[in-house]
Amino acid sequence: MEAHMNSISTTPPLAADLISFIEGLPKAELHLHIEGTLEPELLFALAQRNNVSLPYASVEELRAAYAFTDLQSFLDLYYAGAAVLQTEQDFYDMTMAYIVRSRADNVRHAEIFFDPQTHTERGIAIDVVFAGIARALREARERHGFSSAIIMSFLRHLSEEDAFATLEAALPLRAEYRDLWIGIGLDSAERGNPPEKFARVFARCRELGFHLVAHAGEEGPPQYVKDALDVLHVERIDHGVRSEEDPALMKRLAEQRIPLTVCPLSNLKLCVVDDMRKHNLARLLHAGLAVTVNSDDPAYFGGYMNANFMAVAASLRLSRTELVMLARNAFEATFLPAAAKQQLLLELDGYCMAH
Ligand SMILES: [Zn+2]
Repeated sequence: MEAHMNSISTTPPLAADLISFIEGLPKAELHLHIEGTLEPELLFALAQRNNVSLPYASVEELRAAYAFTDLQSFLDLYYAGAAVLQTEQDFYDMTMAYIVRSRADNVRHAEIFFDPQTHTERGIAIDVVFAGIARALREARERHGFSSAIIMSFLRHLSEEDAFATLEAALPLRAEYRDLWIGIGLDSAERGNPPEKFARVFARCRELGFHLVAHAGEEGPPQYVKDALDVLHVERIDHGVRSEEDPALMKRLAEQRIPLTVCPLSNLKLCVVDDMRKHNLARLLHAGLAVTVNSDDPAYFGGYMNANFMAVAASLRLSRTELVMLARNAFEATFLPAAAKQQLLLELDGYCMAH
């Protein structure tokens, strides 16, 4: 971790005008796990409210434990943290805290992952999970025009049978949450859990008319990215940074403009890259890929959308034009209806003209 601290401290600071340009830039977030937004302070408050004992004495001690060596070391802590989520109000509070932070970063639309299996395997009913998240998102839409959708994600370290059972349990709720629930995703430990493990359940979700996405090419090989496209038929790749190792795949991703939801601070924190200045985001962008910037699990990885934009802008010396390309790619990659998408793209154009 010390190496990371050094590499961050030697990155030249951003110019003040670029900082304010990033702060005001309208953004869409497409790779965000709602359970990964649980800040230590809220985690402790919920533990107290629900009488859950934590293996950490203080918020500071918990934060100090956020020194990960790989994806699995993070997942172990992430699942332990989720244990404090018990009631509909807990899911509401967590989601509302994310909305407040995202609005401050001028996120105009968010497509949010949630992992019901993390909760149902602890005995929390799936409708409690849906209800708490949805109440916060609907309230934010009505009060602030905050646009959002939810993507139910299967945990890939569990079996496909378990994913099918989760889908069956969730489907009766589909009508009630039709305004929000648009898609299906695949996350958690990638290595050893290839896309084809979920071929049948994804085929079923495709028949049901859901949008499909999957994590691939974060720690897993480029082959997983190809299999996510060809076997699971996903429309976006979450992460996908290891696609760079396969020139033919790079060409295909560029030609087909398949969006990659890249998460820079996550990649640094989980040691996918050891120095932000070596991150391949700019190279992927220059190769014509539809790269987007996202925060993944911001409470654990050190920052929300603006922090991710600032980190790549500083370390990769991105221009305003490149930053706007990243924002535009995200709006174009949303699953919004054409009219809503167009409206956000016009807003982005207006911002660029005024700055
Ligand atoms: Zn993720």
